[in-house]
Amino acid sequence: MADFPIPELDGNTPLKVARTPAMDEIAQRGITGLFCPIPEGMPPGSDIGNLSLFGFNPRTCFTGRAPLEAARQGIRLTPSQVAFRCNIVSLKDGKMFDFTSGHIPTEQASILLRDVGKVLEKEYPVHFYSGVSYRHLAVMDTDSTYSVEDLEKTNCTPPHDITGQPWEDYLPEGPAKSLIQEIMLTSQKLLQQHSIAKERVQQGKPEPNSFWLWGQGRTPQIQPYKEKFNLDGVVISAVDLVKGIGVCAGLESIDVPGATGWIDTNYKGKIETALSALSRVDFALVHVEAPDESAHQGDLNLKIKAIEDFDEKIVRPALEFVKQYPNDIRLFVAPDHITALSTRTHAQGAVPFVMCGHGIEASGVAEYHEASAQKTGIFYPEAHELIHHFLTGAPFYIGS
Ligand SMILES: [Zn+2]
Repeated sequence: MADFPIPELDGNTPLKVARTPAMDEIAQRGITGLFCPIPEGMPPGSDIGNLSLFGFNPRTCFTGRAPLEAARQGIRLTPSQVAFRCNIVSLKDGKMFDFTSGHIPTEQASILLRDVGKVLEKEYPVHFYSGVSYRHLAVMDTDSTYSVEDLEKTNCTPPHDITGQPWEDYLPEGPAKSLIQEIMLTSQKLLQQHSIAKERVQQGKPEPNSFWLWGQGRTPQIQPYKEKFNLDGVVISAVDLVKGIGVCAGLESIDVPGATGWIDTNYKGKIETALSALSRVDFALVHVEAPDESAHQGDLNLKIKAIEDFDEKIVRPALEFVKQYPNDIRLFVAPDHITALSTRTHAQGAVPFVMCGHGIEASGVAEYHEASAQKTGIFYPEAHELIHHFLTGAPFYIGS
């Protein structure tokens, strides 16, 4: 949701302009302020941002994005394996045209991954695992040529960071670059000939024409929620990364039918699943991806709509639920990082949070957005400290 001031909005942010009565009400009933989900010096990825939002310190537990997604899929990495994220992307005229291949449907993407992966697995020390839409995994075995460190230290660029830029400038660099580059370039030759790729072109959709490997790492070190916070809970998301952090933290990941990670997601199913889970567990995390994805598309109106949908369909029912149990529950709402419409990618910087519920004093701030949060002067440079404070039930007073 978070963004920078935008000239078309007279210097306001999408979150300020969007109509968000539910989040505004949380601000009135509780506290809003700023926090840094991305610790200084770390890249502004959803992996790091979400580890922060779960209350972990990314500086000590982050090993890469892909191993978190692997955990979600039940893939246990051996000490000699490194997991990579494998996007099916669309390249055009030498540029990164669409890192989602037009949000390629999972049914088509998994056939592409299976057919192309089968050929690549024969030639290279790699195994492919299919995920949702354009998001898949490649697990690399180390051998006498490359060590775990070589694979980890190879610099791979997230494809969503280079939309519209020449992709050849951003091929992997470093110790294992020739292996990873070869896998990517070979995938292009194989995808070109595939009937599904040709079919997508005929339908006027972005051509799925390259695997793009990035986000690699070995198994992460994450303390279970039961040990860390004495809580059990559930996580509800369409995104394997977020589910994976939950699984690593010992939370139950519930799959909701129709959860897509896009503007058409099943909002109602997600929040109803979360609220009903709270009758048997202490904690529920609901993740919505649409505001991020619409900002990656550079679509201002869609981002505002995604924020308004989130407010109406997720936050409103959650807030009404909290109001029924004023002495038992806390509610926290925040983005995991800035996704800037101006650059169509993630950015470092403080983002606004808002929370209300038991033991949280009402500040009476009228609205929830970047500017109102900044005005309160409440600021947490370390996100995990804010979440720890929130989850352990310690009171929040204004100015404390
Ligand atoms: Zn994003």
